[in-house]
Amino acid sequence: MDSQVVANRYIQLQRALFNEQQSLKEQFLPHIKKMFGDNPLNREVPVLMQLPRPIPIELYRASLQAVSHIISDNEPHIKQDIYKLISELSDQQADQWIKAAIKYEMTYFHNLAKKQHVSDWLPHFLAEQAFRPFAQGIAHLHASIMTEFNVMGTCPCCGEPPRLGKVTRDQKTSLACPRCETQWYKQRLACVHCGDDKEENTFHLTIKEDESVHIEICSTCNNYLKLIDRSSYPETMSASLLDLQTIHLDFAAQEEGFGDDNY
Ligand SMILES: [Zn+2]
Ligand SMILES: [Zn+2]
Repeated sequence: MDSQVVANRYIQLQRALFNEQQSLKEQFLPHIKKMFGDNPLNREVPVLMQLPRPIPIELYRASLQAVSHIISDNEPHIKQDIYKLISELSDQQADQWIKAAIKYEMTYFHNLAKKQHVSDWLPHFLAEQAFRPFAQGIAHLHASIMTEFNVMGTCPCCGEPPRLGKVTRDQKTSLACPRCETQWYKQRLACVHCGDDKEENTFHLTIKEDESVHIEICSTCNNYLKLIDRSSYPETMSASLLDLQTIHLDFAAQEEGFGDDNY
């Protein structure tokens, strides 16, 4: 399969969004620091689920404005729909957007799309992209303690199921979260999804045209993990972009019937 299945335009949009999110993240860091204070954190629950104070609505609105601007510039045909969604957003609704984005409440966003007569994917995309600077900021602030967390294999910062791993030359795998950019290490031989650690239950799908990537599949839970050779991609490339650049692996795995509805 062609590894350039994702339109260049979409990659460009994601790159622009990521750059903006990084600058918003820097801007929000002092506020995020204040939100957490010195509260002790439970190492068995993702950091994001332990937010001691809500994300300030005015900051979320600023983020929403900034990402809306970028999306409208890149996709002018949905400018009106974006405007329709955010122009009359009340504080209460903005707060609901944040909560629904954190909890991945897709039903909420699907209903909103129906009610506002906009594309089904748009409300969640907007809410999630505006939320990412906060997720990335929270990850940044807690980067040094991420290895102390054990949250059933999910991202220790945001709870996202793992889907992307980078393999080093000595066969160590670091997992990278495309949502909050957290990196953490995979336990050797254990399936990241169900924890099965029997080697015979793991097999690999390779892609003929690309030797730098493969898919690790668990026959116990039928789920998969995309694995890339760390040296084949620039160290500075964000996990969100890597995830997008390797989307052909998701298509290959899903075509074979692997993965679940979260993918
Ligand atoms: Zn994450
Ligand atoms: Zn498994």
